[in-house]
Amino acid sequence: MLEQLGSGEIQVLTSCSLIGEGVDVPSVGGCILLRPTQSEALHLQMIGRCLRPQDGKQAVILDHVGNIARLGHHLKERHWSLEGVRRRERQQAPSVKTCPQCFCAMASAAGRCPECGHRFRPERRSLKVVAGELQELGTQELRAEERRSQELKQERKREQLEARSLEELIAVGQRRGMKNPHGWARHVLAARQTKGHWSRIA
Ligand SMILES: [Zn+2]
Repeated sequence: MLEQLGSGEIQVLTSCSLIGEGVDVPSVGGCILLRPTQSEALHLQMIGRCLRPQDGKQAVILDHVGNIARLGHHLKERHWSLEGVRRRERQQAPSVKTCPQCFCAMASAAGRCPECGHRFRPERRSLKVVAGELQELGTQELRAEERRSQELKQERKREQLEARSLEELIAVGQRRGMKNPHGWARHVLAARQTKGHWSRIA
């Protein structure tokens, strides 16, 4: 089958943990990731199957399981070491963003989508100045204020947890007046996948 894949007789070959590592068929022009992993090494191995060099080839990687959002872009510079990595550093989420136009994944710092040319506008933050008068708050008023803010926090948390799909999360983000509700929703989903049932997957 690998021979037939190499000659083009077979267009797509699928497997479970069989061809994700070590297989060397340079003509393979793409890979479709359907297996979530928490292992950076396995993540890069799987993508590597379609990155064997061949003249004129441009590999296409379709990630259906959020591996790139979780473990980083495969072209990101990595510093390997035998010293081991501190826990906190290891847990830092990679800075990857997705193009809203073509869904290509790239480094967060990119100003332009390498795939379709979409330009990311720099996020502009402005201060809003509102006229008001300062008032001294007593202990009771302070407690009430604290309670209100706690309730608001819990309410927002509940609303976010109840949104199960990407669309629902985007709607929540829009209601909250976020500048990039799509990006936020994807981020929340990716974090859930990492913390949730996938955390036990090697
Ligand atoms: Zn794009």
